[in-house]
Order: sequence, then C-alpha cells, then structure tokens
Amino acid sequence: MTGRASSAQPTDQPSILRVAVIGAGPCGSALATFLARQGAEVTLFDDGRRPELLVGESLVPAVIPILKRLGIEEETAMLGVLKPGVSFVWSPTDRFSFTFARFAPAVPPYAYNIPRPRFDDALLAKAVAAGAHQVVARARLEPAARGGAELALAPETLAAAPTLGGRQPDLIVDATGRARLAARVLRIPARVGPRNDVAHFAHFEGCRWDDAPGQVIIARLQAGWSWCIPLKDRLSVGIVVGREDAARLGRIPAGRLERAIAVDAWLSAIAGGGRRVTSVATYSNYQLISQRGYGPGWVMVGDAFGFVDPMLSPGVFLALRSAELVAEALNPVLRRGTTPSPAELASALRSYTAVQSAMLAAWSDLVAYLYDGRMLALLRAGRGWMDGGSTFLKSAAQRHIERHIALQASGVRTTSRYSRGLLRMLGRRGLRGIEPAELAIR
Ligand SMILES: Cc1cc2nc3c(=O)[nH]c(=O)nc-3n(C[C@H](O)[C@H](O)[C@H](O)COP(=O)(O)OP(=O)(O)OC[C@H]3O[C@@H](n4cnc5c(N)ncnc54)[C@H](O)[C@@H]3O)c2cc1C
Repeated sequence: MTGRASSAQPTDQPSILRVAVIGAGPCGSALATFLARQGAEVTLFDDGRRPELLVGESLVPAVIPILKRLGIEEETAMLGVLKPGVSFVWSPTDRFSFTFARFAPAVPPYAYNIPRPRFDDALLAKAVAAGAHQVVARARLEPAARGGAELALAPETLAAAPTLGGRQPDLIVDATGRARLAARVLRIPARVGPRNDVAHFAHFEGCRWDDAPGQVIIARLQAGWSWCIPLKDRLSVGIVVGREDAARLGRIPAGRLERAIAVDAWLSAIAGGGRRVTSVATYSNYQLISQRGYGPGWVMVGDAFGFVDPMLSPGVFLALRSAELVAEALNPVLRRGTTPSPAELASALRSYTAVQSAMLAAWSDLVAYLYDGRMLALLRAGRGWMDGGSTFLKSAAQRHIERHIALQASGVRTTSRYSRGLLRMLGRRGLRGIEPAELAIR
C-alpha cells in the first residue's frame, strides 16, 4: 500500500534528493516529515507493527519544541496526559519531587505521557500529509554492489516502492530502532552499556494515586527500579531489574511483574489493588550505541544509532532530535539543487553523528549518577544543607544547582559543559558525607 498527499509537496520540480527511510517509529516519521517539507522525495517503509504496548511513554520537556515544529503538539496533548514533573522515591525518607515549571523559562514547563502506538500513528500521518510515500512492507537491505554507495535496498524492497521506479534512492536512512538493520547488514559493532537489565511492563486500571496527575514516579526497588507513568485512565507500571534478580522474581514476565509489585511496599500500595489490562511486554539488551553511524549513501537515526537507558526517559527525545539534526544537515544539500554523490552525503552527515554521539555520551553520564547513587546523595545533601538553616545565599546556591540538574535531565542542555562540570564537581565534593553506595540501584 502506498499513501501520499501530493498537495503538501512543496514543489513540482523533480526532487534532487530521493530518500528511503526504513522504519516508521517516531524518528523515521519525524525525519520523513522534515525532509518532505524541505523538498526531498521521501519513501517511508513501515512494517506495520504496532504492538499493544510500546515503551517510550514518558517524554522529557525538550521534546516540546520539536513537537511544535512537527505541528503535532495539539494531537499529542489529546492522546496523552500532561506530565508536570518527576518524583524520585528512593526510600521511605528519600522522596524528591520536581516540577518542570519551577525551572521555566529555561526548561519547557511541562512534557507529556503518551500511548506510544497512537502517537506513532499520528506522526506517521504527519509524514504522509507532508508528502512522504508510505510503503507498508518489512524492508530488507544489502551491501551495495556499485555506485559508490555502501548499502542498497534489497530487490523485493525496491520493487515494493513504485515511486522509486526501480532506481536505488540517493540516501538510505536506518530508523529501524533496536532492529538496527544497517548495522546488521554492514556488521557494524555496537558499544554495549554497563547494565544488563531486563524491563517488564504493563498497563493497570484502578490503581491508587496520591501524587499530582501526570507526575511520573521513578522508585528504587530492593533490586532494580520501577516506573509509574500515568496515562489516560491507566497507569503504566514497569520494572527494570538485573537478569539474575529478574530470574529470582519468577519464570514468566507476568509473574515477575506481579511479584515485584507484591514484595515492594510502596509499589504495592499504588498498583497492588489495580487490575492489569494488557499483556506484559519485555525489553532487554537495549544499551547499545553503534560504533559507526553513517557512510556513503546511508545514515542511522534514533535507536538504530544508539540508545542509552530507560532511566529519565530520554529515548523519544533523542530519536526526534536526531531526525531534526539529519534534516538540518541535509538542508544545504537540498538547497544546492544538484544531486549529491554518496560520498558528499556522507560528508554532510558527519557533523550530525558527532553531535548525536555527544548527546548519547552526556545522557549515559547523567544516567550513571542515578544508578550509582550520586544523584540521590546530592539531593539528600542539599536537603540537609537547607534544613540546617536557610540564608539568601544558600537558597540561591541550591536553586542554581537544581536548575543545572534540571537543564540536563529535561534534555534542554544535557551536553552543557558547565552543567556537567558542576554535577561532576558536586558528585565529588558536595555530598556532605553521604555515601552514594547506600543510594545506588542494584
Ligand atoms: C525499557 C525501556 C523503556 C523506555 N522508556 C522510555 C520512556 O519512558 N520515554 C522515552 O522517551 N523513551 C523510552 N524508551 C526508549 C524509546 O522507546 C526509544 O528510544 C524510541 O522508541 C526510539 O524511537 P525510534 O523511532 O528510533 O525507534 P522505534 O520506536 O523502535 O521505531 C522503529 C520502527 O521501525 C520499524 N521497523 C523495524 N524494522 C523494520 C523494517 N525492516 N522495515 C520497516 N520497518 C521496520 C519498527 O516496527 C518501528 O515502528 C524506553 C526504552 C526501553 C528499552
């Protein structure tokens, strides 16, 4: 099946850039939208998979300007719920709640929690409305035999896209998420992150909720951690635990999730009386960052390039931002008006991969503070410091520190040298005798 709204195509001139985007997740659809608006001829391969549950339900505030640029914020607000902030529940006495509005205007004052399959459908519809040709097919790639390109669409994939007219595209974008299609075909290895966790999650109805509506809660468990993401009329409850601890919880995902809820007093107070209304989804082996993200005639975006960790929910933002960065990198090529060679495309995309790698590295560092206990030690130290008597200077210093943590965790300035340096310094010298190991996630 193909779909197209030709009236949205900005020009009747033949396009000088023919792009095949593989994968209609958030990243692929966003990139297809941006490129089609810039005048590229985009074919978007969509394997049509929309499982009942998809991770990526909680967004960070930095996503808001991108949703606006895509013209999809209103629809997101209708599908999802407003997320005013995040609470961290680490122990009965270590509970810290933040609202994004406190850090406005440096940080967008809210984000959203979304039902992912419907959000993905809305983004895909945007891409089609912008002029992308949707091809419902599971695409296959193969190493390219000629033409200076490194990758090609497999014959049956090329044949499935009538608008390509049997000619290979100028650029192939791997937006296949964790399927990592290009990396598999080109045998590009990935750097594997430090944790070896497995995540199980499901949606529940009838849960108890004492926090602000929409507030996301991250809670430390005896082993691992849990998320509670309020959606419309439902609560998404997930656990992220090491493989051995997961095995100790039970043999099957549903049993593990049930047991993790039952044995944790805090989680059981919220979800213990709820009713599970979906199957239980499982994710593992997700901390992967590709060692190469582009080459002659191809590029990787979103999770296909790299994913850090579910902690703090950066995934969809990083995926959408990578789509924007690729569209920006290709803009001069499109404006030049001559068809680029695969090598020219690779050179245009070099800076994108450098920026995306830096963002992934900064998020990896930030997330490590949550896992090794430094972040919570810092919050506890800050609270103790303020409880010891607040002065104007102390309050200003505390606000400054919290603001820079918020700038990083919201995605607005995760790579900022100053914010990162401040956190590093505080992680070494600002813990006021609190031992991070006590607050680490096993
Ligand atoms: C446990 C866990 C929890 C998470 N929680 C959050 C969260 O709360 N917030 C957040 O922002 N992120 C979260 N993430 C990350 C988030 O899910 C991803 O970062 C995000 O979905 C990446 O988007 P994407 O478009 O790159 O890839 P995907 O969303 O994976 O999309 C890829 C698309 O490509 C399609 N596809 C694959 N192969 C082919 C093919 N051969 N042909 C055609 N189509 C194909 C797939 O069906 C899919 O539609 C979480 C991740 C994990 C593992």
